[in-house]
Amino acid sequence: MARIDLVDLAHAYGGNDADPDSFALKPISMTWRQGGAYALLGPSGCGKTTLLNLISGIVAPSRGKILFDGADITPLSTQRRNIAQVFQFPVIYDTMTVGQNLAFPLKNRGVPRAEIDARVTEIAKLLDLTPYLNRKATRLTADAKQKISLGRGLVRADVAAVLFDEPLTVIDPALKWELRSKLKALHRALDLTMIYVTHDQTEALTFADTVVVMHDGRVVQSGTPQELFDKPAHTFVGYFIGSPGMNIVPAVVGGREARIDGHTIALQRAYDHLPAGAKIEVGVRPEFVHVAAPAPGLLSANIERIDDLGRVRFARVRIGDVKFAARVPQGFTIPGNEAGLVFDPSRVHIYADSRLVEGTV
Ligand code: ATP
Repeated sequence: MARIDLVDLAHAYGGNDADPDSFALKPISMTWRQGGAYALLGPSGCGKTTLLNLISGIVAPSRGKILFDGADITPLSTQRRNIAQVFQFPVIYDTMTVGQNLAFPLKNRGVPRAEIDARVTEIAKLLDLTPYLNRKATRLTADAKQKISLGRGLVRADVAAVLFDEPLTVIDPALKWELRSKLKALHRALDLTMIYVTHDQTEALTFADTVVVMHDGRVVQSGTPQELFDKPAHTFVGYFIGSPGMNIVPAVVGGREARIDGHTIALQRAYDHLPAGAKIEVGVRPEFVHVAAPAPGLLSANIERIDDLGRVRFARVRIGDVKFAARVPQGFTIPGNEAGLVFDPSRVHIYADSRLVEGTV
């Protein structure tokens, strides 16, 4: 396994590298820790697969360098990069048995027989494939075939990294949860650097220690699931992670106050130097605002509906033209269509042109 450094890496398909704003991957520099479990999370088309394919060598970058443990591997072929990759759909040999499929990447590299047997036994056990080892792969379900693909990706102990591109797409929804947890356990057991591409936040948050969020060809934040929840560095992270996502509302901000729709809410930090001309917004997660009976001094909102999620209820409200979600405290009965909103000032963030601004204490 290896530490992976991306140095000013960027990619434009079709050789059009004139305007970096049009790149599928905008210039990026970052480090992937040796042995880390990463998820690369973002919506369709944001550049996740492009980044993965640049790391594996399937795509050659328009600009920049990739280093494995400090060595520049940018000109090397996929084969020479020593990477294992698992794709959306199973890549296995139907005519071989499950055991032969798992052994293939090791046999191919001339690993001694005893070592192959030990590793295949270990991986089959971790993936619950032991009872199938002597069966022909052709008769197995799509789920089982994808498990074999995962096993083939994980069987080599000497790879620089294992890259997964939406590997649970074909997996039955009921099994997804189990396999997600299993992959996490596999990461712990095998101590490999893993990068897992997905557009599904639950998959990303359950698998990864570090989630790298992409938007429009850029990495907008990299952090633990808790960091992404507590302090989104970009409004996109606030909106994309969480269910419901973060409320993002236009505001006029100065000092320790934000004015939203003519009402003032208190802020924990002071914001005296916001960039001139920037779009200023307040971001607050629905968990940290609650509805109350309308009262002077509270931001007033129109209740449109209540979503009862079992353990928690969220009110969907409107502030002027802006839609907003707020927690309904336990046992609270909403008196009518009007409500007041109560904010937790320590959880209210300020964004300038979509980027988090750190206030002063
Ligand atoms: P998805 O989850 O849908 O696969 P993604 O986040 O992995 O999306 P990419 O597949 O990396 O995104 O695509 C990023 C951008 O590059 C998109 O605008 C896509 O249309 C474009 N793109 C991807 N592959 C090619 C290609 N081979 N040729 C030209 N454009 C491409």
